[in-house]
Order: sequence, then structure tokens, then C-alpha cells
Amino acid sequence: MKPILVILACLMFGLSGCATVVSSTTKAPVGELKSKPVGTTENPIVDSNITLAEALKKYAPPDLKKRQELVEVLYYSFDDKIHKGQLIIDARLVKDIQEVFRVILKTKFPITSVIPISHERFYKDGMWNEDDQSMLCNNTSAFNYRKVTGGKKLSMHAYGYAIDINPMQNPYIKRRIVLPPGAIYDRRKPGTLVYDSPVVKTFKRLGWTWGGSWRSLKDYQHFEKVLSK
Ligand SMILES: [Zn+2]
Repeated sequence: MKPILVILACLMFGLSGCATVVSSTTKAPVGELKSKPVGTTENPIVDSNITLAEALKKYAPPDLKKRQELVEVLYYSFDDKIHKGQLIIDARLVKDIQEVFRVILKTKFPITSVIPISHERFYKDGMWNEDDQSMLCNNTSAFNYRKVTGGKKLSMHAYGYAIDINPMQNPYIKRRIVLPPGAIYDRRKPGTLVYDSPVVKTFKRLGWTWGGSWRSLKDYQHFEKVLSK
């Protein structure tokens, strides 16, 4: 299927590969769960609930895998309900990510989903469709053993030093190349990152670099903090 068709399918049908309500795994006594509204801090909608081993299923050198940690995060999705997702990131960046997600939750900055790249929903036809599929589904993710877009060097995602947030609202733009294909950067749209948004400010305060402030290209979804390897 051509990219544009995939996008249309995603938009029109909420494609099965894209993040949808999975189930709630909040453990509560029988009876109590019924009275608790779904999509709250106590009973979030679960977008991802896998183990660290499952989240590291896709190939990466063992020394890089060893440094990654699984972080659970809460956020409002575009349905105005609280969801729970998971991120894989270098263990030394876990505190930063937790602080940023506190701001994301508090300011109700909407995030479609936060699901690791190695989740089975990004595995299609015997291969990891990974970043393309994840981006088209507007999924937020961090660790991903891959090369930089359009280059040969390893991406900062390959080390767990980078995160991409809401790719459809915050595309990668280099001249005429826009990724995900068809995405439009419109600073007025909810879920869009701009230089003075609390999310960007928090990342910057914690020493991260935002791809939206780069000059040779713009990567609005991308934040990175490069640690010693
Ligand atoms: Zn990125």
C-alpha cells in the first residue's frame, strides 16, 4: 500500500495496526472497577503493556540493549482520556522522561500513544515495519536501533538517547522531504510542539536538544540528550 493510502486508512478507519484502546489491566477488586471511570489516573486506558524483554525483541547489539530501561508513562490522548504507555530509553534518562511526562499530563498536552517500536503491532508480514508504521500511527517512541534518516550513521535513537513525539503533528522536514509523508506542521493544532510550549521548555531545561530548533533541517518530533557511550 502506498504511504498516502496508509495515512488515509489510518485516518479513516483507525487502522488496526495503530494505537487503539487495548484493555485496562488495572487490578481492582471485583465490583470496584465498575464504579471507576475508565481513562483516569486510577484506571487509565492501556496502550502498551509488554515486558522489557518483549520491548527489546528487535535486533540491537547486546551492549546497547543492556543499557535500556522500560518506563511507564501517563498522558491524555486525543480522546481526552488518560492513557498508559511505555517507552524504552537509556536508564540514565529515565528521570528526565518522567519529569517531562509530568508536564505532559499536567498541561494536558495530547499524545496519541506511547508504544515501543518492538511491539508486535509494528511487526507486519515477517518484518519490523517499525519506524514508518509507528510514525504513520502518530506513535511516540524512543529507543530504536536504526540509522539516521537519509544517512549512514547510527541515529541517537539507536542508543536510547532520543525520543520522537507525535510525528504526524511534528514532522521531519528537509527541503521537500516530509516524514511521515503527508504530515503538516501547523503550530495551532493540539499536540504540536512549538519553541515556547511547556514540553519543549522542560526538555531544554533538562539539557536536551530539540530538532525543531535545528537550522539545516527541522525534526519537530525529535528530542535528544547525548550521553557518553
Ligand atoms: Zn527522532
